[in-house]
Amino acid sequence: MVEKIKLALVGIGKIARDQHLPALAANNDFDLIATASRNNTIDGIAAYKNVGELLNALPDLKAISLSTPPEGRFEQAMTAIRAGKDVMLEKPPAATVSEAEMLIAAARARNVVLFATWHSREAAEIDAARAWLKDKVIKAVRIRWMEDIRQWHPGQDWILAPGGFGVFDPGINALSIATTILPEPLTVLSADMGVPSNRACPLTADIRMRSGDADVDVKFNFLQTGTQTWDIEVDTDAGMLRLGMGGSILEIPGEAQKSAADEEYARLYKRFAELVRTRQIDVDLRPLHLVADSFMIANRTTLEPFEF
Ligand code: NAP
Repeated sequence: MVEKIKLALVGIGKIARDQHLPALAANNDFDLIATASRNNTIDGIAAYKNVGELLNALPDLKAISLSTPPEGRFEQAMTAIRAGKDVMLEKPPAATVSEAEMLIAAARARNVVLFATWHSREAAEIDAARAWLKDKVIKAVRIRWMEDIRQWHPGQDWILAPGGFGVFDPGINALSIATTILPEPLTVLSADMGVPSNRACPLTADIRMRSGDADVDVKFNFLQTGTQTWDIEVDTDAGMLRLGMGGSILEIPGEAQKSAADEEYARLYKRFAELVRTRQIDVDLRPLHLVADSFMIANRTTLEPFEF
C-alpha cells in the first residue's frame, strides 16, 4: 500500500471548512495531520498558529495546503518551500505577479512541488467546453460574474483591502475558465472599475478584452442582489456555447443541456497527489496576468462607501 502524504492545512476560514476539509476527508492520498491558523482550529486535529510553528513541531510533514487570503500567502508559501515542503495554493496564487514568479523559482531551486489551483477549471463541464470550442471560429465572448459580496463573503474585509482583489477575487475564476477554454490567448484592452470611497479594491469592473479576432466583454459585479450569475457565452461559427453556474452547466447547439455534480476540490486534491508523486510544478499565471493588466490600465470611478 502506498503511504499517505502527511498534509497540513493553513488558514481555517470559509473555503477551508466548505471545501478543503470535506475533500480531504473523502481522499485516500492525504493524511491531514495538522492545521495552522491564527484563531481557528478544527476539532480533533493538531492546531498550530502559523507555518513556522508547524514546521518546528512536525518534521514528518510532507505537504502544506494554503487556504489563507492572497495578501500574506507569499511569506507562508516561501517558508514552506524553503523547508522543502510540497505546496498547494488557493487561488489567486499570490497578491502580485512577481510574488507568484518568485514562488515558482524557489520551488524549482529546491525541487519541491508547487500547485497553483484554479478550482473553477475543475467544474464539471469545462473540459467538454474546451473540446467543443477547439476547432470553432470564435466571434464574440461575454463573461458575466455577478454576485452578492454580502451573501458569499460576509465580513471578509481583506477582500476589499490592498491585495484582496475586490470583485476580481471571484472574477479571476471566470478568467481561469476563459484562459483554458478559448483557443486563443486573451489580452486586456480597457477596464472601468468602481471602487468604494472607503476601500482599496473594486466592487464593479467592466473590462474589454480580445481573444484572437473576438471581442471579449467582461462584467464583474459584487453588488448583485437577486439572481446570481456566473456565466460565459461564446458566439462561434457553429452557434453559441453557454457555460452556466460557474462551469457546471453546458449548453451547445443541437445537444441537450449537460451538468454534473460538483467535484472541484476532490479533483484538485487528486491532482496535487499526482504532482507530489511525480514531482512536478503546475502554475499557470495567465488569469493573474489579466487581473494585473486590468488594474494597470483601469479607469477608476469612486463609489459610495461600502460596509458589509
Ligand atoms: P476567509 O473565510 O476569510 O478565511 C481565510 C482564513 O485565513 C481566515 O479565517 C483566517 O483564519 C486566515 N487568515 C490568515 N491571515 C489572514 C489575514 N491576513 N486576513 C484574514 N484571514 C487570514 O476567506 P476564504 O473565503 O476562506 O478565502 C480564502 C482563500 O480561498 C482566498 O484566496 C479565496 O479567493 C479562496 N476561495 C474562497 C472561496 C469562497 O467561496 N469563500 C472559494 C474558492 C476559493 P485565522 O484568523 O484563524 O488566521
